[in-house]
Amino acid sequence: MSNALSVPAAIAALPTRTGELTAMLESWAHINSGSGHLAGLERMRGALRAEFSRAFPAALIEEPALEGTSARALRVRLRPSAPRQILLNGHYDTVYEAADPFQTCSRPDAHTLRGPGVADMKGGLVVMLAALQAFEQTPGASALGWEILVTPDEETGSHGSAPLFIEAATRHSFALVFEPARPTGDLVRSRMGTGSFTATCRGRAAHAAQVPSPGRNAILALAEFLLAAAKLPAELPGVLVNIGNIRGGSAATNVVPDFAQSELDVRITRIADRAPLMARLRALTEPINAREGFSLEIAGSFNRPPKECGPAEEAAFAAWQQAARDLGQTPPGWVHSGGGSDGNLLFAAGLPNLDGVGPLGDALHSDRENVVIASLASRAQIAALFLTRYAAGDVGC
Ligand SMILES: [Zn+2]
Repeated sequence: MSNALSVPAAIAALPTRTGELTAMLESWAHINSGSGHLAGLERMRGALRAEFSRAFPAALIEEPALEGTSARALRVRLRPSAPRQILLNGHYDTVYEAADPFQTCSRPDAHTLRGPGVADMKGGLVVMLAALQAFEQTPGASALGWEILVTPDEETGSHGSAPLFIEAATRHSFALVFEPARPTGDLVRSRMGTGSFTATCRGRAAHAAQVPSPGRNAILALAEFLLAAAKLPAELPGVLVNIGNIRGGSAATNVVPDFAQSELDVRITRIADRAPLMARLRALTEPINAREGFSLEIAGSFNRPPKECGPAEEAAFAAWQQAARDLGQTPPGWVHSGGGSDGNLLFAAGLPNLDGVGPLGDALHSDRENVVIASLASRAQIAALFLTRYAAGDVGC
């Protein structure tokens, strides 16, 4: 089983499709599908639907509605009653809105394609498609049913598509998330959970010249809290706190300001980090609230919970590395990431998943975003070989 001879011909041949896969990716990247660009999202979903229905004529294709937006997801299912099932997840929105100057692809060198969403994650969608096409030509494919779920709001927090992940988790026991691999080829072992909170401080206005002052300076009190909050990562390992912005006072600098507000981006590594972090943030407000004339309140919530790494992920990763070795490729490593993905939401819904199985990408969310062209085929080869082994029940997840 574990030698290059066990690689089915359709999987071995994937690199010969590189030109065609690159052209497909370029055409998809040229369709603007910023999360807020509804017409562009619709065009992109149409392009995906056309490509997937051409590739898999027997598949059931649906466009489930989302909560709070008219954008729709795309769901493609084949063999829903096969003994084993797997979910393949991706998103078709990007961070580049219709007015963004970055709209077209270029080739900085022979090995690289630069363009909006080429890595994050239209490149992942190309890898997903190519992997499934090769997998479908392998003898054991009938043992595996698969479901593709591609959503339009990942870059804005997946608020509308979150219920779709919870529902998909009831039909599956494992998922592959086609977010890009790191530039080194590493997959994502775990991801931090993200939250956003607003700290609002109220004091008392007074003339700046009045001595002794009856004023209560809300900016100073909030600054005290923020300085302490920024130090929390030192006492709570695995936690990040970023003071993202601050406002307060007015144009009249001869007034003691009675209002100040700041937004904090907080990140946690484990679900268990949440309670101590919230307890410490609240404790930091207490000395300020104990002072006469001040109030300091924190509002907000966690959006994506952390994606942790369990036994199913460990087993899938080992199988992934083995597939890479059997293809003569360098087996990838995997890393902890501070950024969230829909892998977080799937994990929270009880669906273990291997994340970052897309192509090698770099400079995401910038006008230098790029993908390693050869990795479209090489990552599709690993995914396809993994699927043959998953179908055969040879992966312990
Ligand atoms: Zn992404």
